[in-house]
Amino acid sequence: MTSVHELIRDAAEREALGGDDPSGAPAAPHRRPIALRSTGASSCDPGLAEEPWRIDRRAGYGPGSSAADAIPGDAPRQGRLPARYTDASDDQLHEWIVAAKTRLGARVRILGHFYQRDEVVRYADFVGDSFMLAQAAKEHPETEAFVFCGVHFMAETADILSDPSQAVVLPNLAAGCSMADMATIEQVEDCWRQLTAVLGSEPGTDGRQPVIPVTYMNSSAAIKAFCGRNGGIVCTSSNARAVLEWAFARGQRVVFFPDQHLGRNTAKAMGLSEDEMPVWRPQAANGGNTETQLRAAKVILWNGFCSVHKRFTVEQIERARAEHPGARVIVHPECPAAVVEAADGAGSTDYIRKQIDAARPGDVIAVGTEINLVNRLQQEHPELTVFCLDPVVCPCSTMYRIHPAYLAWTLESLVAGETPNRITVAERIASESRIALERMLAARP
Ligand code: SF4
Repeated sequence: MTSVHELIRDAAEREALGGDDPSGAPAAPHRRPIALRSTGASSCDPGLAEEPWRIDRRAGYGPGSSAADAIPGDAPRQGRLPARYTDASDDQLHEWIVAAKTRLGARVRILGHFYQRDEVVRYADFVGDSFMLAQAAKEHPETEAFVFCGVHFMAETADILSDPSQAVVLPNLAAGCSMADMATIEQVEDCWRQLTAVLGSEPGTDGRQPVIPVTYMNSSAAIKAFCGRNGGIVCTSSNARAVLEWAFARGQRVVFFPDQHLGRNTAKAMGLSEDEMPVWRPQAANGGNTETQLRAAKVILWNGFCSVHKRFTVEQIERARAEHPGARVIVHPECPAAVVEAADGAGSTDYIRKQIDAARPGDVIAVGTEINLVNRLQQEHPELTVFCLDPVVCPCSTMYRIHPAYLAWTLESLVAGETPNRITVAERIASESRIALERMLAARP
């Protein structure tokens, strides 16, 4: 099996040799750039309208809402695609994808995340959030390979839950997640050492541990494994409250990775106050807190966030209500607490979908989540008015790194008997991660 690090090294070597183009010349621009669905709104980044090959050759997360986030130096980097794909028209790519998919049949399934662009999601056999897609992989043991049109941590989770004989492929290795990248395993281990030094490691008189580590699904496999081996657990945005209740039954406090907003919103809904939720800044000693603050804490919030959901504001909610009297506002719990509190409802993607499915014809719903999902919900429900709270089109830039040319290349490679960009989690990390994931499933309400 090829590790991610080997893939990165191979990609870097190919790059040094001029890539797959024998001339070593820069890839030709794609003839027709893939545009966001026209909404009449402006976009947050002019790069979204550019040729995809210009975007994909740049360092960083690409255009979109996480473009400004710092990308770790060791983040995977995709090698150059053969000119066959970079020079192809949209129609040719479509033809090749359909032909390869037909030849592969049920041997290969395509998993498409809710936030993935329509040009890719149209080919997906399953569409869902990261955990739903990992579960889909687990439930199809007959499938030899899953092409995961999402981001890196999602492909890792699918690999952890699927059989070792099944391959999970990420069509573009540069499709990371800026939130997951905000907590590295080295930083988390360092945080744990400091917390243990202040809080101790022995249970209190009530039998509870000093601190229980909880990580959001949107984190690396290494951090899920860390939680597994340290008495901790994983959560999703659907079950975060049940998971925190599980953790408080076993610990006096929780350290929550990496999304401070999901942690804060969930803890506030459980009645905890801001004073009981210090933020851990990994660059500072004790995360920038005093020992007294850490001892008084109930939830220690890692200083991470989702750049997509951080964009939503209370002003946007006020404007939506002014322009659409009677509109219902629903937002994702990765949004800041003030936004969640100003909204009519907050919940996971599944919650948002159910709210929209249950709406009555003519209802107006303003949604605070990723633009591709909001646009798709509007398409599925023409009897409603569904729109994104943010008037500026700004997709998840890391999800945006996957487009049909990568999918065509991946599928044709699989037809040829090759398995490109296989994401493989080492068995020790996978088994420790499964412990944390199984605790989560047992903690489900
Ligand atoms: S929407 Fe946010 S959390 Fe989800 S993949 Fe994109 S950056 Fe990561």
